[in-house]
Amino acid sequence: MKNLKLSNTKAEGDRTIIRIGELQIGRDLVVIAGPCAVESEDQLLRTAWAVKEAGATMLRGGAFKPRTSPYAFQGLGLKGLKILDKARRETGLPIVTEVIDTRDVSWVSEYADVLQIGARNTQNFSLLREAGKSGKPVLLKRGMHGTLEEWLNCAEYILAEGNGNIILCERGIRSFETYTRNTLDLSIVPAAKSISHLPVFVDPSHGTGVLELIEPMSMAAIVAGADGLEIEVHIDPPSALSDKDQQLTPAAFARLMRKIGILRRTMDTLDDSVQAENEVRGLLQCV
Ligand code: PEP
Ligand code: MN
Repeated sequence: MKNLKLSNTKAEGDRTIIRIGELQIGRDLVVIAGPCAVESEDQLLRTAWAVKEAGATMLRGGAFKPRTSPYAFQGLGLKGLKILDKARRETGLPIVTEVIDTRDVSWVSEYADVLQIGARNTQNFSLLREAGKSGKPVLLKRGMHGTLEEWLNCAEYILAEGNGNIILCERGIRSFETYTRNTLDLSIVPAAKSISHLPVFVDPSHGTGVLELIEPMSMAAIVAGADGLEIEVHIDPPSALSDKDQQLTPAAFARLMRKIGILRRTMDTLDDSVQAENEVRGLLQCV
């Protein structure tokens, strides 16, 4: 792929592992969960405890919301970041939150464990450079109409500033389909993982925008090799100030997490069975 210097797969095959506390992103299966937006201390803390109890490993919540309409809820800003900070102190969950303006990167970095760059800003090159300079891990969404090559070139902007802690996150692309909010492109997961050493996550919430599709697409993402998921969960979805139709209840999220646990164990058994079968084949060839 053209112009990729730092994001492409290394000859030695080393993959990027991002360490946040005890978490090893790129090695452990990481599930980031939480509301679309931080709306109040009560809403965020109750959601944070619920996702933690269900097994989520990181907490998400937007304090700055990139909304299609300037009249829609734009997020609580600094107040939202302070609430996220409190949730981290109480639950111990690391925080993922979006930054939308170059002028905010340095001070938002004081609150965030991972800076999210959203689909609408994936090709905001000044923002990518600032995020690169911050040295913070960056969750880089795929742009709505971004090719794999364009997406990896966005990662190059961050890498070129000396920051290699990048998580790529597929969140659906625009297509002619209108039933789903976006078309979740799961084929990009193994594709990105073969071209690049960076971890690849999937966001089935924005990727489908349809509640019933979030569970099957989460499972499919894991089978496709995703290193993690980012899922919207709200303590009371009908009252959400943004994306209320795609946020899971804590009960639905807990059910999904149980299924993911079983799926992971099944996948491990599959790997063991393939290995055992190969060993038997090897032995048979020797006799
Ligand atoms: C989000 O994760 O809150 C978000 C706005 O997602 P995206 O940038 O993928 O639309
Ligand atoms: Mn959202």
